[in-house]
Amino acid sequence: MKVIRTLTEYNQWHSTTDANAEIGFVPTMGALHQGHLSLIRQSTKENYLTVCSIYINPTQFDKKEDLIKYPKALKKDIALLKTTNCDVLFVPDDRQMYPEGEDLTRYEFDFSQIDTLLEGKHRIGHFRGVGIVVSKLFEMLKPTKAYLGEKDYQQLQIVKRLAVAMKLNLSVIGSLTTRESDGLAMSSRNLRLNQNERTEATFIYQMLQKAKEKYSKGETIATIQFSIIDKFNKHPSFKLDYFEIVHEETFLASGNKSNWRCFVAAFIGPVRLIDNMPLIA
Ligand code: AMP
Repeated sequence: MKVIRTLTEYNQWHSTTDANAEIGFVPTMGALHQGHLSLIRQSTKENYLTVCSIYINPTQFDKKEDLIKYPKALKKDIALLKTTNCDVLFVPDDRQMYPEGEDLTRYEFDFSQIDTLLEGKHRIGHFRGVGIVVSKLFEMLKPTKAYLGEKDYQQLQIVKRLAVAMKLNLSVIGSLTTRESDGLAMSSRNLRLNQNERTEATFIYQMLQKAKEKYSKGETIATIQFSIIDKFNKHPSFKLDYFEIVHEETFLASGNKSNWRCFVAAFIGPVRLIDNMPLIA
């Protein structure tokens, strides 16, 4: 696996590849885990070449502290990636991604309001930052397929819309969430949990399962939502940001009565975790 740090170097590598070779791309912020690796493996199975990127994107963080504390583990990440058939790891620095004085407005897209709901409502500017960095990476790396996790379901839908808006010849593929054995969605942020918090964090998964169970028994969306929010509020270790059941494409609580998905964001200690689950799987 080649570790590439600049666009010039990437273009050199790219010019040596077959022009028709499909390039699968997995954008990440590093501190890799099995969830990331499952995306890489899917890409290596489905494409001739696979490129992974690691870049902690400052423009998508609404809180400076969260950016500073974001886990970093480049050496370990490289070792993990070497266990896959990933061809290139692209690790740009801030100067590569955000040259001084650059006009970022051309990387801003209309996401038909879905960027203002859920994560967008609770992390102001988050999806603007995601849109900027992902569109820049797409432009730089020229992939034919991009693999993103359903773990960040709203982000996945944003990136699908972005690829259409950019008129790219690129398919955006969503992959299922990889979970720990107790159901907790794998996340780089889990590294920041202490032992006690890690044990308690499975409550998020349990609540998603509970919502699904209630739905299968015929409870209404409003009742399910009310009861799960109440359980979070009564839990001594959690501070709930939101628990919402909405349509999985519009992110609204109205419209088509199928395709409901629950979305949750909650703090356990200082760490904010998110997860989601379809009500019918
Ligand atoms: P991140 O490094 O957190 O920005 O994530 C990079 C990509 O990996 C995103 O597309 C995430 O949705 C995806 N991802 C993160 N956690 C998981 C997981 N547990 N299962 C599957 N994909 C994941």
